[in-house]
Amino acid sequence: MKHRIVVLGAGYAGAYAAGILSRRLSPAGTEITVVNAVPDFVERMRMHQLAAGHQVEPRKLADVFAGTGIRLRLARVTAVDPERRIVTVADADGGGELRYDTLFYALGSHVADHGVPGVAEHAFDVAGRPSALRLRERLDSLDRAGTGGSVLVVGDGLTGIETATELAEARPGLSVTLIAPGELGARLSTGARGHLRRACDRLRVTALEHTSVEAVEATRVLCDDGRALASDATVWTAGFEVSPIAAASGLEVAENGQIVVDRTMRSVSHPNVYAIGDAVHAIGDNGRPMPMSCGSAGYTGRQAIEAIVGRLTGGKVPHTKLVYLFNHISLGRRDGMLQMVDDEGRAKPRYVGGWKAARIKVGIIKGSLWATAHPTLGLPKRKHRLATAPDGSVEKAAA
Ligand SMILES: Cc1cc2nc3c(=O)[nH]c(=O)nc-3n(C[C@H](O)[C@H](O)[C@H](O)COP(=O)(O)OP(=O)(O)OC[C@H]3O[C@@H](n4cnc5c(N)ncnc54)[C@H](O)[C@@H]3O)c2cc1C
Repeated sequence: MKHRIVVLGAGYAGAYAAGILSRRLSPAGTEITVVNAVPDFVERMRMHQLAAGHQVEPRKLADVFAGTGIRLRLARVTAVDPERRIVTVADADGGGELRYDTLFYALGSHVADHGVPGVAEHAFDVAGRPSALRLRERLDSLDRAGTGGSVLVVGDGLTGIETATELAEARPGLSVTLIAPGELGARLSTGARGHLRRACDRLRVTALEHTSVEAVEATRVLCDDGRALASDATVWTAGFEVSPIAAASGLEVAENGQIVVDRTMRSVSHPNVYAIGDAVHAIGDNGRPMPMSCGSAGYTGRQAIEAIVGRLTGGKVPHTKLVYLFNHISLGRRDGMLQMVDDEGRAKPRYVGGWKAARIKVGIIKGSLWATAHPTLGLPKRKHRLATAPDGSVEKAAA
């Protein structure tokens, strides 16, 4: 029987890993199935652009995987049973169960409300395509009304900064406020913070610093200092969290629900499971957890691929790099910042700002899409056959 690899999630991490595995492992011995809730590859890194009104064309996963031999199952994963090696899925036909020999868990993340009342009911977000399109419709209706409108972006992390500046640039008729719990862009270097302030001034983004939002209502937000701010659209960018599926399955997870793995991205509790991307609690080469990011999706994906190929084919399991080198932040379409970070993940004094940084960011986004949409490009066609244990089983050989 073929070794069944099931990949859960076809975002940056899962789609990339599945594509490369299909090129590296012989179809004579392996069968790769990708399960994803939606038929498209979603460029999450551009969802703030989509909300602002730019075109972000979805790419069909069926096209991404064409010619790879990968089976695509469009369904929502509802549970994983790592003891019985079964994944339960739901789809329009009712769903069913998928059996696996090796599981790649790459279900990504979604917006976290941190228990703040009203976020789920009243706030918009840019964490996925449907929510970004809902925000876009709301902003379109405000623009059509022509009476202005106030947009509050809550959280000055990278997504909040990108969202506030993008919306302000694309929709100058609206007044955009970026709400920061501390100093604006506190995690950036002094130079980059100054650059951010100048960009906000130019784009007429108001920065409301040292302010936390305690509740979101339909037409206002309530702040920790007792203020109520009127809002026509509140955009929640105050963090991301992972799906509860991993924790519910009995896999060992960290406090935040990410799957705890060894250096090769293999679950420490269930060796047939690998986790990658936002869903993994991976310790980087600097001894700190890898941040949720597209870069981490690539690094953790690459390590997991090497591990599974090595183990299944009886080869070596090399340690690949697990690093995080910089934050790339767009400030609208014509400005940006590339903030280098040190081994501790802190901002280095050095940053690149302006048009050049904006072009680099566009290049990185295009490169990420290209790598995901053409996962096998440039890889040798030679496929590795699976190693077998003396009793003929692949699992024992790989253990
Ligand atoms: C607006 C925005 C801007 C960003 N900008 C940057 C940036 O500049 N640089 C950077 O490094 N990172 C950025 N990020 C973060 C980056 O997008 C994520 O870290 C990255 O998408 C993680 O990849 P992933 O494959 O783990 O998860 P995802 O890309 O989220 O993919 C997860 C996949 O799993 C599927 N899925 C989820 N749940 C289920 C289920 N139950 N059943 C079936 N399928 C399911 C989803 O449909 C999706 O296809 C940004 C994020 C946002 C929202």
